[in-house]
Amino acid sequence: MKSLFTSAEIRGIVFDLDATLYVCDRFAAEIQNASVTYIAGLKRLTPAEAGELVASTRQMLTEESGTVQTISAVCRELGGSVQELHRFFERTLRPEAFLVRDERVIRMLERLAERYSLYIYTNNNRVLTARIVNYLGLDGVMRGIFAIDDAWRPKPDEEMVGRILEQIGLVPNEALFVGDRYDVDLRVPEQLGCPVYLSRNLEQLLRLEELLIFSPF
Ligand SMILES: [Mg+2]
Repeated sequence: MKSLFTSAEIRGIVFDLDATLYVCDRFAAEIQNASVTYIAGLKRLTPAEAGELVASTRQMLTEESGTVQTISAVCRELGGSVQELHRFFERTLRPEAFLVRDERVIRMLERLAERYSLYIYTNNNRVLTARIVNYLGLDGVMRGIFAIDDAWRPKPDEEMVGRILEQIGLVPNEALFVGDRYDVDLRVPEQLGCPVYLSRNLEQLLRLEELLIFSPF
């Protein structure tokens, strides 16, 4: 079986959280709606106007940079505070109303945790990340969580990836990064020499285990 990375050297796996360890379009829409509500308050716009502004700003930033842009980047561009946006998320988002625990993901991560140290690195904040991870039943398998409020340096950020590697005590070729957005989650780690795996749905996430086991070296 062919794989894009060599599993022999991998000792740790750094997962993105949202849309990677779970996939839930309704909760993704809820996050998007909360962002629009925050921008509407900031700019004194109706929700519909704010929605259009967020969409056009994201498109403009994406065209300028050539890569997909995060809600953090859109928020900053519109004069908002990423810290305030996350406080608003903490107050208003209810992941428990949308997410569904998946035993297949739990079991796979438990097996992977026997061979690798597992981490989460997310643009979500620590409070919501803890709620989501606990609700999904993943709290027992993670060695550590790196959240946006650690340094308010949203992904993609080369310095943060360097700090994470230092903290988890791995050199780049030992740390596999897994995420659903190449530009946001994977490009920087790959440029630093880390193996990466793009996982955009549950099937791809669940395939990770066989890729690691059967990967040639
Ligand atoms: Mg994601």
